[in-house]
Amino acid sequence: CQDARIARIAAAIRAIPNFPKPGILFQDITTLLLDTRAFRDTIDLFVERYKDKDISVVAGIEARGFIFGPPVALAIGAKFVPLRKPNKLPGEVISEEYSLEYGKDKMEMHVGAVQAGERALVIDDLIATGGTLCAAISLLERVAVHVVECACVIELPELKGRERLGDKPLFVLVDAA
Ligand code: AMP
Repeated sequence: CQDARIARIAAAIRAIPNFPKPGILFQDITTLLLDTRAFRDTIDLFVERYKDKDISVVAGIEARGFIFGPPVALAIGAKFVPLRKPNKLPGEVISEEYSLEYGKDKMEMHVGAVQAGERALVIDDLIATGGTLCAAISLLERVAVHVVECACVIELPELKGRERLGDKPLFVLVDAA
């Protein structure tokens, strides 16, 4: 049953206080990856949701979107496109700047990885303020890709990242504090 699977996933995620800096409660999904059943449940829940949605591209956000994205992409018959931190991709890129709590960051995608009119799913491990997912959506929309939905394993609802996404649908498995 779905609730049992969600409970297993929630229990397998470890929260580590004051990482990477004081005041942050870091949601560590590496312990989820050690629990073969919970990891499989995570992928299965995403696959069940997206298998019949005509999605041709799964875009995964560096770094932990690279863990959950590819198995989902393979299972639903979509390609996988990495959205990377600056200066990591060797080919021609388009990039999107976005603001962090302190300062700015950039996300890059290879030119030619996606075609206008494709239907994309964006995957990351966690949504906090929503800034990262917004940048991913903008990057894909700039090349006329339709972002069908964003999917994360964990949401921090207090940070209201969902509101920042506007009417773009967001699917999450687990809420955390
Ligand atoms: P945001 O752009 O604020 O939604 O932040 C989301 C990104 O930062 C994701 O790629 C997460 O992996 C990472 N992140 C933010 N807060 C946390 C947290 N408390 N625990 C683990 N990862 C986090």
